[in-house]
Amino acid sequence: MKSAAEVKAKSDELEAQSPEHILRYAFATFPKIAISTAFGPEGCALVAMAVAIEPSIKVFTVDTDFLFPESIELRQKFVDKYRLNLEVLKGAVTLEEQNRKHGLKLYERDTDTCCALRKVEPTGRALHGLDAWIAGLRRDQSKTRAGIEILELYEREAEAPLIKVNPLATWTRKDTWNYLHAHDVPYNALLDQGYKSIGCWPCTQPVGEGQDERAGRWGGQKAECGIHTFMAKKS
Ligand code: SF4
Repeated sequence: MKSAAEVKAKSDELEAQSPEHILRYAFATFPKIAISTAFGPEGCALVAMAVAIEPSIKVFTVDTDFLFPESIELRQKFVDKYRLNLEVLKGAVTLEEQNRKHGLKLYERDTDTCCALRKVEPTGRALHGLDAWIAGLRRDQSKTRAGIEILELYEREAEAPLIKVNPLATWTRKDTWNYLHAHDVPYNALLDQGYKSIGCWPCTQPVGEGQDERAGRWGGQKAECGIHTFMAKKS
């Protein structure tokens, strides 16, 4: 698939298919493929589902140096339970270098720069050389995700375009939890303490009943860190 029209046609065809079917299609179609996850509930479901189909699938995650201890514990649980082929990436600019250049607690003054250094840069590096990238986004997570497609084509500088695969695009939050419970998949202990979406501890708060599930991120000032928006989608 080279053109945006071809990708869109295949994406539309996959719309009614299960996430497992979409994963099987992606594994059979793209030789260089990986899953990115921050081990949120969707990522946990997606990774458990993927390793049941392809045990050696490459998974990568970013350690921003600001993760909750519960998130690090969950990451290790996945490695132990699923013998995960996991790569843990850190920013090329260390936290010490960031503090020297930008001062302590950059997240209090400039979340875009902090996210760019600690999340987007290592994610971009991990995507280098891949044909396709699988992510656990759902359309009903937030307004910013409502328009995602099952397959998306992204332009890259000096590299062939990248296909992004969103097998859970049509899932609801309930679908995610049904899967986690039905398959005994580990999840972050903070999700039982009022958190609905978990990122870095300085930028994550629990949310009230009925609030948007990403409302607890960045004090509601933004809904995305940039890893899902830094490339230009080809349409
Ligand atoms: S979520 Fe907060 S602490 Fe984490 S990288 Fe972004 S601004 Fe920095």
